[in-house]
Amino acid sequence: MIQLKNSAQLKDMRDAGRITAQALLVAEEAIREGVSTYEVDAKIRNFIEKCGAKPSFLGLYGFPGSACISINDQVIHGIPSKKVILREGDIVKVDVGAFFHGFHGDSARTFPVGNISDEAKRLIEATKHCFECGFEQVKEGNRVGDIGNAVESCAKSYGYSVVRKYIGHGVGRDVHEAPDVPNFGTAGRGPRLCRGMAIAIEPMINVGTGDVKEMPDGWTVLTLDGKLSAHYENTVALTDEGPIILTDPN
Ligand code: MG
Ligand code: MG
Repeated sequence: MIQLKNSAQLKDMRDAGRITAQALLVAEEAIREGVSTYEVDAKIRNFIEKCGAKPSFLGLYGFPGSACISINDQVIHGIPSKKVILREGDIVKVDVGAFFHGFHGDSARTFPVGNISDEAKRLIEATKHCFECGFEQVKEGNRVGDIGNAVESCAKSYGYSVVRKYIGHGVGRDVHEAPDVPNFGTAGRGPRLCRGMAIAIEPMINVGTGDVKEMPDGWTVLTLDGKLSAHYENTVALTDEGPIILTDPN
């Protein structure tokens, strides 16, 4: 069932979203050549706890890190590790959530390490653009399928693929709530968008095939063809004043 939020609850979600977004700025600052993904994760955790919040993903379904940190052909759910050292040219997906005053925020970005290839730059830009196309569809009367359709159309316009196995979702007292928000769909189909809905729109965009596989660690998801993948996510809400991004650092 879709849990609609009233304006006081959306205000609390905005606070959780702000901490989440600021944690991504901490990650961006920490990411550079020679640093381990464990170190990046530790800085994220320290920041979130300093804010009086909890990392949403720590222990969620048994996940061992505070953030999911995934490199290059890793799509999502990478486990922070002392053995994974960032190298110039890598692209690093950081997916983070903060739980504060009863609500979660959920947001992800793809960061470059030093100089990256033109292909990687184009992919990162395209993935952000896919999010924006999806977010433009968040208005009363539209349906979830309008979001997915816009995201996938944008990805295709770059010659890229969307990951279909993992999708966006409602956000609130739980990190993952109804409805499902796929990065594909038929315009005019799916649950109707209405005031009080809070959802994570999170395009995962691949240069090659959209097909993925899981690593033996049981968590990390990789592109099937080993080509690059990028991720861009915000928790957004449809309020009385219109659509807003909850995971805004300001
Ligand atoms: Mg996320
Ligand atoms: Mg999410």
